[in-house]
Formats: sequence, structure tokens, C-alpha cells
Amino acid sequence: MGIYEELGVRRLINANATLTRLGGSLLAPGVAAAMEEAGASFVELESLQRAVSAEIARLTHNEACYVSSGAAAALTLATAAALTGTDPALRARLPFTDGMRNEVIVHRHTRVGYDFAVRMVGVRLVEIGEHGRETTAAELEAAITPRTAGFFLFPRCLEERGELSIETSAEICRPRGIRVVVDAAAQLPPRSNLWDFTRRGADAALFSGGKGLRGPQSSGLILGRRDFVEACAFHGPPSAYIGRGMKVGKEELCGILAALRWYLNHDEEAELAFWETIVERVIAEVGSLPGVTARRIWPSEAGQPVPRAELTLDEAALGRTRDAVHAALLQGDPMVDLAAGPGTTLIVNPQTLYPEEIDPLIERLRTVLT
Ligand SMILES: *Cc1c(COP(=O)(O)O)cnc(C)c1O
Repeated sequence: MGIYEELGVRRLINANATLTRLGGSLLAPGVAAAMEEAGASFVELESLQRAVSAEIARLTHNEACYVSSGAAAALTLATAAALTGTDPALRARLPFTDGMRNEVIVHRHTRVGYDFAVRMVGVRLVEIGEHGRETTAAELEAAITPRTAGFFLFPRCLEERGELSIETSAEICRPRGIRVVVDAAAQLPPRSNLWDFTRRGADAALFSGGKGLRGPQSSGLILGRRDFVEACAFHGPPSAYIGRGMKVGKEELCGILAALRWYLNHDEEAELAFWETIVERVIAEVGSLPGVTARRIWPSEAGQPVPRAELTLDEAALGRTRDAVHAALLQGDPMVDLAAGPGTTLIVNPQTLYPEEIDPLIERLRTVLT
């Protein structure tokens, strides 16, 4: 009996995305062993953080790195760093920010629920831009006040949504001491994003360790300029300030390094080709059922270069609503979690599927749809 069976918690097939509520992603080869080895000895935690970070910075062609407990924690630490730098008196005052730089500019139309991680530092968000047109440099300049601490971007790398470019953002913000931070939590693949955002001028790019990198779910990376990353670390654990609850253990530190090494060496093209074969099979074997049509859609929900299969259900022909089918998949055996898309669609994302899950997934979809 496995640990999940013993606890009475059901395993599921994740055909949805690298969602935290489903466990993020599965550990890459070598990660669990690294965590187990790390868990067997005491070390000085800050020395380990420094050594792991130096190696990750080197491997990702960045000046510096800090390992956080996730991308949301990275957002909080980056915000605190943008507000106070390495001033101990200001650090001790957070989240009360009267009299400090305490405004962060964001695009109104690209906001994500995760910006609470920014606001919890005592920050006011200032919005610019809108859906359907290009944001201008003048708009950013007009939004800047003596209190502006940062400009935070939430890009989807393959979708143009009219955001100001990182290059222009950096040109405007850098001379004014305003930090440009890119929340790239789910922007892997492609692996080049690990260095592209910072090469283009961002002070830091933030990544989830438990999504595309397939590291520990409670890990994340802050990659970027040395002075800024040091200010993030200044707020992070084990110091007892705003980041204290966002602890990163020795196991996560060694685990994310192992995951990153795997990520940089795995065959990205072969992985993409594998995902394409899953999408083709779903289209051929499920999209051919009466009352179902299917097509390949691209890019993925987070704008990554990942194909997905979109199934459109003819509810009248099937005699069941899309929602009823969705619920049946969630309640069935095996339990299948996938995304309900627009209209009467269901979307199969191959990014979180593993070879041995493909047959059971297709069989389950065919059973529920016939
Ligand atoms: C997933 C996600 C986060 C949070 O990442 P964690 O590593 O789970 O903390 C933040 N921002 C965006 C855009 C995300 O997709």
C-alpha cells in the first residue's frame, strides 16, 4: 500500500497544468535523491543557500540567484527589496510603509491573483495600460511618482498583450532607481527564459521551482542583478522579518539545484515532440467520437510553447452538458483533472502527463464521452 492509499487520498491524472492545487509537477529524476541526501546532515543554512545560489546563477547566466519558497514568496521578497533595499531600519518597519517608496506599477489588464503577494508588503498598486492597445512609455512615465519602488510585469511570453517591453521599461526605470521585476513563474519552457528576461534589462525574473522545473513544489528562484538579489536575500529566511515564514529548507535547496541541472540538460525538443504525440492521439482517438470535435491549440494557458488538445462537445448530441462530463472525469476512476475551456470545450494539456498515463487517460475520456 502506498502512502496516498494508506491516507485514503486519491491519486489523479493531471491533464490540466502545473497547478499548485494538484501538486504542481512531478519531481524530475534525481531530485528526490538530492533531497534525501540533504536531509541526512546538518549544514549552515546560509552557506548552503549561498553555494546553491551561486551555482544556479552560473548555470542560468545571471549575476545572482536566491532560492525562495516559491514564486509567490519571490514576489513578496522582491517587493520588500524594491521598497527598502538593505536598510535594516526600513526592513524592520514592514508592512508599514509610510514615508517610504511604497508604490508598484503594474499593467491593469495583465494582473493575476498573485499580486496579493506584492500588496501584502504594504504596497499600493498603480495601474497603467488597457486591453487591446499598446501601452506607451509616456504612460509609464506619467505613473511614476517619488514613491515608485518598482514596475512589475506578468508576461505570457508568446502572447502579445500590449505590455511595455522590458527594454523600454528598464530604460525608464533604471535611472530612477525603480526596480523592474518579471513574474515568470510559469514561463518555462522555453529554458532560455531563465536568462532572457534579465538580459533584456529586468532587475530580476522570478520562477516557480515546482512548475516547469519539476523541483520541490515549495521552491522558487529569484534570478537577476547582484545588488537586487542581495536585497531580496536580506528579507528572506532565516532572518526574522517579512520573509521569515517563507522558509527554504536544506532539502529544497539541494532539490531545486538537482531539478535545474536536469532541466538544463533534458532534451527540450524531444519533450515537445512527445507532447505533440499526446495531442495527436487525443485528437484522433477522442475527437473522432460522435458528438465530439477536436483541434490542436497553441500556445498553452500560460503562453508557453506547449500544444494542447481542445475538445468541443455537442451537448445535444451527447445528451450531457460539458460540465457534467467535466464533473464525471473528476469523480471517476482514475480521477482526471483537466481544464474546462470556453463554451463547451474541455482542454487536455500534455505538459503534466507521463507516458504510463496516456492510455488510461484516453480510455477514461472515451468511456465518459460514449
Ligand atoms: C504559479 C504562479 C505564481 C506562484 O508560484 P508558486 O511557486 O506556486 O508560489 C506566481 N505568479 C504566476 C504568474 C504564477 O503562474
